[in-house]
Amino acid sequence: MTKEELNLIIEKEPYHKERENPSDSDLRLYLREVNYHCPLCGKELQLRKQKKANQKLFQIAHIYPNSPTVEQYNMLHNLERLGIDCENFENKIALCINCHQTQDYHTTVDDYIHLLNIKKRCLTQTALHDATNTLGLETEIDKVVSKLSTLSDSDLTELNYEPVPIANKFTNQEILLKSKVTNYVLTFYPYIRESFRKLDGKNGFHLQVLSEQMRSCFIKMDSISQDKTLVFSKIVEWIMHKTQSNSLESCEAVVSFFVQNCEVFHEITE
Ligand SMILES: [Zn+2]
Repeated sequence: MTKEELNLIIEKEPYHKERENPSDSDLRLYLREVNYHCPLCGKELQLRKQKKANQKLFQIAHIYPNSPTVEQYNMLHNLERLGIDCENFENKIALCINCHQTQDYHTTVDDYIHLLNIKKRCLTQTALHDATNTLGLETEIDKVVSKLSTLSDSDLTELNYEPVPIANKFTNQEILLKSKVTNYVLTFYPYIRESFRKLDGKNGFHLQVLSEQMRSCFIKMDSISQDKTLVFSKIVEWIMHKTQSNSLESCEAVVSFFVQNCEVFHEITE
């Protein structure tokens, strides 16, 4: 079989897909599932005190190759594959640069099965971890936080112009809000602060700048409606929309973080 003949076969396979670069949040998941160490040789993939995020010690490897050579195809095409297509999260794994190069060009059937089984274990462990996580909220907040950190200035400007209808003020609802915010702050404030701290200064993200923007957003909305419950829920709604999160609680926790961190709604959090 020639490479051209192989290309014609591959193009017809539903498993074949154009190469896709993993997003930053995917990269975090790839590193987390292998516990920040190369699953083949044990080398550390992320130094604890790494200053530059772009100084990468790892690469994301395809387990079943995206464009197999004729030799690879003949060896591997009848074996089990992970994921719905070759660009799926399940068909990729973080490896150190050395192991990736060996794996890329010298894949044997045994090597392939070995890496496939490692990935299967990672997927099972992640699923178990997520299931035992307290309400699964930490993972959700992680997603919210990492998405929040990639929002641009114009995304945030949009938030300022979110139309907020004037509503009556309900004092008893403010007590409910106070208790809600207090609970979220007590439970999640340190976690969210730590997550933001890890992202701070990377890719142009600065927590202080985001906090200022959130603060001016609260103040602006507060001048439109004094109903703090409404303002709170509008910002939660916006974050849910922007992060495409289905977790209302995660977004409420993140907004509560800003309520506390930006010292807005002062009388509530006191
Ligand atoms: Zn390695």
